[in-house]
Amino acid sequence: MSVIEKSKPEIIFPCDSRRITSDYGPRTSGDKFHDGVDFGAIKQGVSGDPVYSVSKMKIVSQYFSKTYGNLIIADSLESNLSYVYGHLSEVFVVVGTIINADKTIGLMGNTGKSTGPHLHFEVRDRHYSSSFWNSHDGEFYSSQDPMDYIVEKAAPDCTMCRELLISYMKNIDGELLKLDDIHTNLAHIMTDFESFIKTLK
Ligand SMILES: [Zn+2]
Repeated sequence: MSVIEKSKPEIIFPCDSRRITSDYGPRTSGDKFHDGVDFGAIKQGVSGDPVYSVSKMKIVSQYFSKTYGNLIIADSLESNLSYVYGHLSEVFVVVGTIINADKTIGLMGNTGKSTGPHLHFEVRDRHYSSSFWNSHDGEFYSSQDPMDYIVEKAAPDCTMCRELLISYMKNIDGELLKLDDIHTNLAHIMTDFESFIKTLK
């Protein structure tokens, strides 16, 4: 790994879904470049998945756009990256808010030019900020492939939590489950936990 790759900032996923419905890059149909990556809702067609801060960041803009719908733009406070979150159904932050990574800043939705609940997430490099919205118009574009920066959160430090999580990720034969099934299992944890607490009362 080169020095440049090593120094590249890392961010977490902006939502729980790992279902990418449209990649970053040239669209296969139409002529428009896709400046971000689209994550489909956990439950297809259902808005309301939480959307997260991907690093420590400051909200620099928040408005409704005909294209992006309810939109949040934030500057990383750890690197030269900026983030764009589009099509939100709810927004829980205001301009000026400084927030740590992994906090809920809004809810996934279907506002603006969108054909179903999803998160449109962009990573932009402020080295090219003079052309923030004018991407791929010549060589000075600011948008980057978000998947070049996104990494999975590290497993919890606590051995007990880590083993518990891993147990919910595998089926009875020890094979890894699909993400949808893991989510179902995690929902069961809460239900089981709540009923267990009741037995203690
Ligand atoms: Zn998109």
